[in-house]
Amino acid sequence: MTYPAATGDLPPVSGAVRPPSYERSAVIDLEAIRHNVRRLAAAASPAQVMAVVKADAYGHGAVPVARAALEAGAGWLGVAHISEALALRAAGIEAPMLAWLHTAESNFGAAVAAGVDIGCSGWELERIVAAAREQERPARVHLKVDTGLGRNGATIDVWDSLVGEAMEYQDEGLLRVVGIFSHLAVADEPERPETDDQLAAFREVLAIAEDAGVDPEVRHLANTPATLSRPDTHFDLVRVGLGIYGLSPFEGQTSAELGLRPAMTVRTVVAHCKDVPDGQGVSYGLNYHTHGASTLGLIPLGYADGVPRVATGGPVRVEGVTYPVVGRIAMDQMVIDLGARHVSAGGHSLLGAEAELFGDGADGGPTADDWARAAGTINYEIVTRISPRVPRTFINEKPAP
Ligand SMILES: *Cc1c(COP(=O)(O)O)cnc(C)c1O
Repeated sequence: MTYPAATGDLPPVSGAVRPPSYERSAVIDLEAIRHNVRRLAAAASPAQVMAVVKADAYGHGAVPVARAALEAGAGWLGVAHISEALALRAAGIEAPMLAWLHTAESNFGAAVAAGVDIGCSGWELERIVAAAREQERPARVHLKVDTGLGRNGATIDVWDSLVGEAMEYQDEGLLRVVGIFSHLAVADEPERPETDDQLAAFREVLAIAEDAGVDPEVRHLANTPATLSRPDTHFDLVRVGLGIYGLSPFEGQTSAELGLRPAMTVRTVVAHCKDVPDGQGVSYGLNYHTHGASTLGLIPLGYADGVPRVATGGPVRVEGVTYPVVGRIAMDQMVIDLGARHVSAGGHSLLGAEAELFGDGADGGPTADDWARAAGTINYEIVTRISPRVPRTFINEKPAP
């Protein structure tokens, strides 16, 4: 879907036919997704690529992103929840798929029935086996080891016995151990030594599993930063999330420097534009006052749309000029100070002009990284939190074959 470019010269109420998502949208460029997957696949080769599309593909839309990633050569899909995997299966996506974060409430039976691979840290094993019995179908299991992150995964102390139990069930035909994996803690800080420790621990548990007769299809450890900076962590498969969305995992290295293209653009239109006197207070708390006569532009996005409330100062670009948000960000809206320039602009109003919060940054425009800095967070969170109230618009979608 395309939309007409706005200019400040558009009449405020033009009656022009525009898609409903013109008011506010997160535009997802699926060609950028494909480009990024090809870039990461080249870095990972000969290892295969698992495109991580959890959390609605970090806010980008799981089904269209999964399809684009598969078109560009990803061989696997990864999600956190079984329910996320089932949604992809329901959309007709047949690719190998792994879900790794479960609770005692998770539906392992549905995962087995749908041919979804299940990550297993230990406690799930009995439940997975019960599900396989019930479904009369062997479960596909990836055993997870905690090599230092301290979250999911079996500790190295119990690894031996987990592998032994899993192999007994494999011999009974109830499951197949198709993968062994772990997750890195500090790969985004390549100078830190802990990645080496985790890698050494991973090699150790692989050897133990091999001795016990495990012959996995895939051994996997690397996330996006490790895929880009640590070829020795690639093994058979890399699990890449952030990179396929075109964002940099490294402080001080941009997307462009990594050969990646940010896929999400968040844009809206200026909702109100008015001249105000010197000293006008702006938004709740009146934390900001204009310095001289000025024009305020109202941006109709707020924390209900996923713009962090703490991100005052975040950039909004209107007609090629980037303005910082002033005053508090509210639930539905925020304000930019257009300055004195527009007061004397002879009635040239920016009402209805396109306002971009972030995009691919190619032309010096604002980026998700800028918003992350303004909010004291990381780019992962900025894109992932863009809420369902902001309609997703997909461009460069390939027609179904
Ligand atoms: C989210 C996640 C990934 C992807 O990490 P990125 O840094 O976004 O590439 C990989 N593996 C696991 C287990 C994850 O939870």
